[in-house]
Order: sequence, then C-alpha cells, then structure tokens
Amino acid sequence: MSFKNIIGQKDVINYLTNAFSEDKIGHAYIFCGPEGIGKKTVAEEFAALILCENPRNNKKCGQCSSCRLFESGASPDIRRLSVESLSIGVDEVRESLSDLVIKPMYSARKVYIINDAEKLTAQAQNAILKSLEEPPSYATIILITTVYDILLETIRSRAVKVKFKENSYQEVMEAITKKLGPGIDKERAEFAALWSNGSIGRALAMAEGQEFSDLREKTFDAIIKIEKEKLRGIFEISSFFEKNKESCNLILDFMISYYRDILMAAETANENMLINKDKEDIIFTKVFEYTAEQLAAAIAYVIDAKKNIRYNANYMLAIENMLIGIAQI
Ligand SMILES: [Zn+2]
Repeated sequence: MSFKNIIGQKDVINYLTNAFSEDKIGHAYIFCGPEGIGKKTVAEEFAALILCENPRNNKKCGQCSSCRLFESGASPDIRRLSVESLSIGVDEVRESLSDLVIKPMYSARKVYIINDAEKLTAQAQNAILKSLEEPPSYATIILITTVYDILLETIRSRAVKVKFKENSYQEVMEAITKKLGPGIDKERAEFAALWSNGSIGRALAMAEGQEFSDLREKTFDAIIKIEKEKLRGIFEISSFFEKNKESCNLILDFMISYYRDILMAAETANENMLINKDKEDIIFTKVFEYTAEQLAAAIAYVIDAKKNIRYNANYMLAIENMLIGIAQI
C-alpha cells in the first residue's frame, strides 16, 4: 500500500504529505467524514510515512526496520484504539496512551490512532486532552470520526481538522473494479456504486456480499408492513431494527430511497431515475398510495431518526418515534 494506491482523497493526501515534507507534522489531527471513504487507510499510510526511518520523496522506504515492523503489525511506535462496544471509556484511553511518555523505539515519532472517536465519553476525551495539552515532541494523535461536532470544543481547538470528502461515482466504480476484478457483474457494481453514497467501503461491502441485498429486502418488507398494518405492525418492525442495530444507517438509507423513488416515479414516470430499479413494479403501484407531502414527511421522519442516532440519542426510542410518525402519515 502507498498513498498512490488510495483512490480519491487527493486534497487530504496532498495536505498531509506537504506537512510531512515541510516538517510540520501536527501533534493532533481529527480525520472526519462519512464512513467507508478512506479515513483509516489514509491514517495508516500517513503513520507509516512519518514512522519510516528513511523516507524518500514523501514516500516510505518499505525496507527499514520501522517499515518492516509496521508492515508486520508489530511496530511498537504505533498504537491503535478500536473498540467494538458502543462507547470508548476513560480506562481504554488511558491504557492506549499509557506509553506516550516513552520515547519511540525505531522512529523519530510515535503515532496513536483512535478509531470511532465519536464513541469517546466526555471523560475519555478529557483524558486525551491532558495528553494534548503538553504532548511530547515526537507524538502524533489521530482521532478518526464520522461526527466532528460531537467532540469537545477543547479537543477540536487543539487538533487539526482534516476533512475527507465523499468519493465520486467514478472513484467508487474504480475501487470496485480494482478490488473485484474486471469480471464483476456490471449491473451489480453500478448498483453498489449508486447505493454507496460516495463511500468506497460501503460499495465494496455491497458488491461483495449477499448481506446487503438481504437487508434491503427485509427493509422493504418492513416498510410494506407499516403501510398495511400501521401502528399494529410497529412491534415486529422494532425488533427488526433492534437485531440490525449495527446496520441501522444502511436500513434508514434504504427507507429514504424507497420514499424517494416513489416521489421520483410520480414526478418523472421514468424508471431510469429510480435507485431501486429492480423494484420498479412495486414503486410504480405506490405512486397512487401517497401524496408528495406524505412522502416528504416520511423522508423527514427517517432523516430525523438518523440525526438523533448519530448524536447518540436512545437508539430504540429514535426508531420507534420514526415508525410511529411514518405509520400515521
Ligand atoms: Zn522505511
């Protein structure tokens, strides 16, 4: 891997390699932007570059001890914090930063990468803040997050914000073709690219796995259940959301696409304008069941739920409020 193999994010990569070549590497960065667009990949690559003992033309050498240790995953000069649970507590942060005061072993610098920083509790953020107030000269901490605003102002003011952009449709297609080979089913690749919201990570997951299609089918079943049973259907649908909490963003996007497609079908009567082209039959029959206002209201409920979940509101409460709203439009 190297920066040149990363598709997209050219501005970010230029910015970071310039900082490197001018010897202006920061002590703290916040890499922010939607999921699946390369924040972790760029962070890893940047870390490898600044840890390399013998970089040339802003590229890691790939041969020094540091590069080899990095490659094997055994470098003592980089630490990563990633947790599966929904929050990152103060103990996990302290443990991760515990060797910050110890000088790097192979490199001139030490890098700490904290993934999913939106999960950091306030105390955990305060623990990081202590390290950011007087960081050792060799330390660089990279916080990676999808929600920049959720971090404390005190952290934000001490870190350089590095904003990642959504990938373009072409970049997503390029990534899919590169990863899955030119033999990939073209229709499936296009569908994944269209669905990815500019996220290469999401597009690849979709193009590769059956899981995505299954989840979309189940989401559509759930929507149709609300249409038929209204409030009576909510209990069962809630449990679908409960079981698929990890994929809730995707499910909510499926919901938006459903209502958006009906709106599009009503306005244009053109099946090529649909995201869910394969569901054309269902979508065109629904045109007569909704007014444009109702569709806009349904979309607004889903967007609201997305926002609430993103800002750590009670997940099931946010989902139930949305379902109740939609059942009553
Ligand atoms: Zn090297």
